Amino acid sequence: MNPKTNKKPTQPKIPNIMNQIVIAIFIFMAITVAYTFFTKKGDDVKKMAISDVAKSVVDGTIEKITVSGGDINIDFKDKTKGIAKKELESSLSETLYNYGVTPAQITSTPIEIKTESGFMYWILSILPFLLPVFLIMFLFWMLTRQAKGQGMQAFTFGQSKARITDPDDKNNKVTFKDVAGAKEAKEELKEIVDFLKNPKKFLDIGARIPKGVLLTGQPGTGKTLLARAVAGEAEVPFFHLSGSEFVEMFVGVGASRVRDLFKMAKKAAPSIVFIDEIDAVGRVRGTGVGGGNDEREQTLNQILVEMDGFEPNEKVIVMAATNRGDVLDPALLRPGRFDRRVLLDLPDRKDREDILAIHSRKKPFAEDVNLKVIAERTPGFSGADLFSIMNEGAILAAREDRKKIAQFDLVRSIEKVMMGPERKSHLLSKQEKEITAYHEAGHALVASVLPHADPVHKVSIVSRGSAGGYTLKLPLEERRLQSKKEFLDDIAMSLGGYVAEEMVFGDITTGPSNDLQVATSLARAMVTRWGMSSEIGPIALESDGGRTMFGQGVNDKEYSERVSALIDGEVSKIMNNAFAVAKQVLTEKRKVLDAIASKLIEVETLEQAEYNEIIVANGIVPKKRKK
Ligand code: ADP
Ligand code: MG
Ligand code: ZN
Repeated sequence: MNPKTNKKPTQPKIPNIMNQIVIAIFIFMAITVAYTFFTKKGDDVKKMAISDVAKSVVDGTIEKITVSGGDINIDFKDKTKGIAKKELESSLSETLYNYGVTPAQITSTPIEIKTESGFMYWILSILPFLLPVFLIMFLFWMLTRQAKGQGMQAFTFGQSKARITDPDDKNNKVTFKDVAGAKEAKEELKEIVDFLKNPKKFLDIGARIPKGVLLTGQPGTGKTLLARAVAGEAEVPFFHLSGSEFVEMFVGVGASRVRDLFKMAKKAAPSIVFIDEIDAVGRVRGTGVGGGNDEREQTLNQILVEMDGFEPNEKVIVMAATNRGDVLDPALLRPGRFDRRVLLDLPDRKDREDILAIHSRKKPFAEDVNLKVIAERTPGFSGADLFSIMNEGAILAAREDRKKIAQFDLVRSIEKVMMGPERKSHLLSKQEKEITAYHEAGHALVASVLPHADPVHKVSIVSRGSAGGYTLKLPLEERRLQSKKEFLDDIAMSLGGYVAEEMVFGDITTGPSNDLQVATSLARAMVTRWGMSSEIGPIALESDGGRTMFGQGVNDKEYSERVSALIDGEVSKIMNNAFAVAKQVLTEKRKVLDAIASKLIEVETLEQAEYNEIIVANGIVPKKRKK
């Protein structure tokens, strides 16, 4: 099930071209030699006059005569051979008769006639001309292959390289059963499956079918797996292509690949086109500073064109996966394109146990194996990591010639997987866990208490990227308008983690650094873009987009030093106010803060319902999700 088994072969090196030419020349020489050898008459074949042949027939020394074209080949009874030239105008028996051989003598000698129009004769006469042509074609073919190896793709230009998974292929079939956890994601995707299975039901009622589904989540959270499971459940063809495969040397190749891919998918509809790692082509398109990557932009444009070009009843659904939803071009996320977004989180304890269970199928375990313990010990591990644990465990057991995998093997593989690159941040120490729990509880509680903040969806201390945990509170759909009050509450909420850490532990970690950045830039935008500061008033000092250079935003400053100082003053006023608000909330509700934090330490992830239970028990009314 490893999607990486389909890698391109490694590219041959340049000296190979020389090798190939040498080989070609060698083959050419060999063929020439063989040709002359086989067509040459051996030295032991004696040339004879036709009269001698007649004499031999009369003598009865001939075993067999073979006539082929103008040649008469004679096999004598004493195993010698002879060759003679025939008169072209008359047949052999006629000629022999003329030389005085009686008809009885002629019939007593077997004569085999190979007709001149025989296939072999024809081939043999044409081969000398064809051979060089073949050779040139062969050489050309070799060079072409070589060129392809060099990544030029000159001769397969646009053809899509998509891998197709056939719905009838039982061996590679993946279904939702093979994906543990990810409940919400599966729920969303079931709808897609439903549609692919029974499009008529939806179309008849006039429903517009989503064209694109974007799966976001950290590496190894099962995005690729889930996409394949959708195809498996729906039993439709699945066209799988990776974003990085679009990017080729020649401009235009990516775009024509996209065209081919979609053409194939439409032919096979209902079907799924899956573009893995779409961030490779779908990053925010630059405004030209520093030179954009034309190839990428064209590919991306083509994807957009294809998606827009779908007829309303086209039964092709485009799925895409990315680790970095934040860098995607906004054009991709517009309604009518990837308008469904499915977020995949790192698994929590229960999910980890389920994933381990899935990957223990077909693995013989010793009595002492306890997957729950393994799940407890692997906070922050992704599905792919857990898969590795199981695999490493099996390898360890096999290496020590045991027939069953023991708990001890699995525990050792945890370390092995953890020691892998960049896994250190995964494992939270007990103290880190506590700090993270209070930090996230701080965010969540401020959000629940302040009237204009968004409701809390989920709180988790399962680490995510550089952050220790996360609090999910944004409604998934984009908002058009946001008010000043909402922004102020948002900023206070962002500072909730910082305030909680300071209050509870009397110290601050590097954990909230990202929160501070987010809050500060929001405050700054309020002042400089949206005219939300009374000091500065309704002036937009900065434009919305800014330019991008080397992937980072650069803002053109269009104001003086004095205004700049004024801005800084306003920003820090907003931040300080927000800090005070957050501090007040958390001080007043310290008891609730403790309750949320301790529950988090216990279960790691709180879904909305569980979270609401805690705050309701402490007299806070949970908010309804805003429309
Ligand atoms: P991504 O595409 O998100 O980087 P993959 O889908 O390639 O991750 O997952 C890699 C492997 O990890 C899968 O092939 C599967 O074996 C395992 N895996 C990941 N998530 C899950 C899950 N939820 N349930 C079962 N296995 C999983
Ligand atoms: Mg993947
Ligand atoms: Zn935070």
